[in-house]
Amino acid sequence: MTAVRPDLSHISHWVFDLDNTLYPSNAPVMTQMDRRMTQYVARLLGLGESEARAVQKHYWRTYGTTLNGLMTHHEVDRRDFLDFVHDIDASVIDPDPTLAARIEALPGRRLVYTNGSRGHAENVLGRLGLEHLFNDIFDVEAAGFTPKPHREGFDRFTAHFDLPVSESVFFEDSVRNLKTAHEMGFTTVLVRAREGPRDEESAAPGEHPEHVHYAVDCLSTFLGDVRVKQG
Ligand SMILES: [Mg+2]
Repeated sequence: MTAVRPDLSHISHWVFDLDNTLYPSNAPVMTQMDRRMTQYVARLLGLGESEARAVQKHYWRTYGTTLNGLMTHHEVDRRDFLDFVHDIDASVIDPDPTLAARIEALPGRRLVYTNGSRGHAENVLGRLGLEHLFNDIFDVEAAGFTPKPHREGFDRFTAHFDLPVSESVFFEDSVRNLKTAHEMGFTTVLVRAREGPRDEESAAPGEHPEHVHYAVDCLSTFLGDVRVKQG
């Protein structure tokens, strides 16, 4: 084997999206949240399920998240929405000791940046066995409820941590979120979807968009291969 190892020896800050990035996309987590969002939209707007679903997806496409669309057009209790949507059965996520060991070996600061809530991130990280490995979690509330892919949310994130983007890498399953990260100067790693139903925003098997430095099928394998800063 003479495969070239990905060179991330310039990286001092490791930034990870949460959902479908730190656990595989075929774990039925997003499907649960997606259903709960539909229920929430239906109840809030007094719609039937299929109409609610159409509104939900329209908001997601137009405003980055369903919540951001609801905030733009309706009165919504943001925390109530997040609590309801994240009230999922997280036991479908398996612990990932290999990923834990590989994240632990990364030199520098490690951060989670999610469009979800901090509570949801803590829940998921706990299930994966990764809860002790990150310096901090930056959630949608910390971003002033401006979600990725909007630049304003990213700017709050980088300002909050005084992040040197040229020395930072962003791991994401969302193609459109990585576009912003790329424009800002992050090194970008796309974690592609596994077999099975996939989100509109995630990449198909084999896909490698132009604004992505690395496109990988397995985060853990990639982190095992990567060349990092020594000492
Ligand atoms: Mg994600």
